[in-house]
Amino acid sequence: MMRSHLIKPILDEEYKQISHGSGVYLYDTDGKKYLDGSSGAVTCSIGHGVKEVINAMHDQAKKVSFVYRSQFTNEPAERLAEKLAQLAPGDLNWSFFVNSGSEATETAMKIAIQYWQEKGKHQKSKILSRWMSYHGITIGSLSLSGHTERRARFVPLLDANPVISPPYCYRCPFDRTYPGCQLKCATELETAINRIGSDHIAAFVVEPLVGAAGGAIVPPAGYYEKIRDICDRNQILLIADEVMTGIGRTGKMFAMEHWSVQPDIIALGKGLSAGYTPIAATLVSDSIIEPILTGSKLIMSGHTYSANPQSAAVALAVLTYIEKHSLVEASHSKGIFLLNELQQFKKKFTIVGDVRGKGLLIGIEFVSNTNTKLPFKKDCKVTNLVIKQAQINGLLIYPSTAGIEGVSGDAILVAPPLTITETEMNELIYLLYKTIKEVEDSLQ
Ligand code: PLP
Repeated sequence: MMRSHLIKPILDEEYKQISHGSGVYLYDTDGKKYLDGSSGAVTCSIGHGVKEVINAMHDQAKKVSFVYRSQFTNEPAERLAEKLAQLAPGDLNWSFFVNSGSEATETAMKIAIQYWQEKGKHQKSKILSRWMSYHGITIGSLSLSGHTERRARFVPLLDANPVISPPYCYRCPFDRTYPGCQLKCATELETAINRIGSDHIAAFVVEPLVGAAGGAIVPPAGYYEKIRDICDRNQILLIADEVMTGIGRTGKMFAMEHWSVQPDIIALGKGLSAGYTPIAATLVSDSIIEPILTGSKLIMSGHTYSANPQSAAVALAVLTYIEKHSLVEASHSKGIFLLNELQQFKKKFTIVGDVRGKGLLIGIEFVSNTNTKLPFKKDCKVTNLVIKQAQINGLLIYPSTAGIEGVSGDAILVAPPLTITETEMNELIYLLYKTIKEVEDSLQ
């Protein structure tokens, strides 16, 4: 076999090569077919090979592929920003385009800090976040991320941004039960603010549903309303990292709409271009832009490929496709069916502890004992076993982690393209059932 020069996630592991994709399926160069059960990394939300997107890419490439943002604006980027302003809740009317989710959350950090500087509050520069979260891999966004494994090597470079526990009812960090808990997971934010001092804090960042670091954890009712109230009373901005949850994934265009809470800034990525080109965005409200507009007028950030016309044209075509095929509504209704079916796994398996989620973002948490919720030992590598066995069975699944800070846990995310049909969902359920059964048997 020819020596590879490509750095892959695990350097000495052999990876199959994908030759092409169509709809919810991918095909490798040996001809094996895979059902893309998690849209890659919860990204390819309209499936593979969509003609309208390919045509938009081709049409834009014929016009112009690159325009430098510091010299010119361009039509696709203008239209995409206008479209997002129409779709986004409230006065989130401004878009800053970047290339990855990490850049989108890091840009959100910078804009939040700049907002307070423009208002003369230079000390308000700290950004708070939660443990069990993932906001990206660049140093700034990793700093925000409460993901101990990904932080470990770089701790000396990272700020202590994560300060509070996740809203994780299955394993309540306070050993309480909803609603008697009185949402201590939310009021903990106020305790942290009082300790640090609101004069030093610019913003608090959340993933509406905890994705990669928790396995689709849905906060209890009233949580975000309380968080918004605490932020408002302490003059702290609320940033929603919708990189995974945005653009219909949870059955609403933006997941925060499940709670009627408007964040001040939203980070988008993944589903924005559904994987067809790299593009991400930081959406900013009128009230955050206003002091910058009347102040320095310059947001101190940007990348060579920011507002790239080719990527913007693709994202526009993806949004048009999503609207034309009512895929946000489809995510909601298909999500109800799939969650209901996967919840049956709790009765069928001794290793399935919890099944949760919203729309087509569903998490399955594995435990060694469903009564005590005891996680598997780290060296059992249960998530890995499930992912590998699924791939053998022709099903692609995205790994997640779960567990209270410091305790390793096993979880997966099931997040197929929003275009998945009922027959394909039944195939997914069958393949996942077969996979978990085989892994459960192998653990005995
Ligand atoms: N934020 C969230 C919620 C994510 O799930 C991810 C990626 O998984 C990121 C940010 C980082 O995005 P990217 O990998 O595009 O940099």
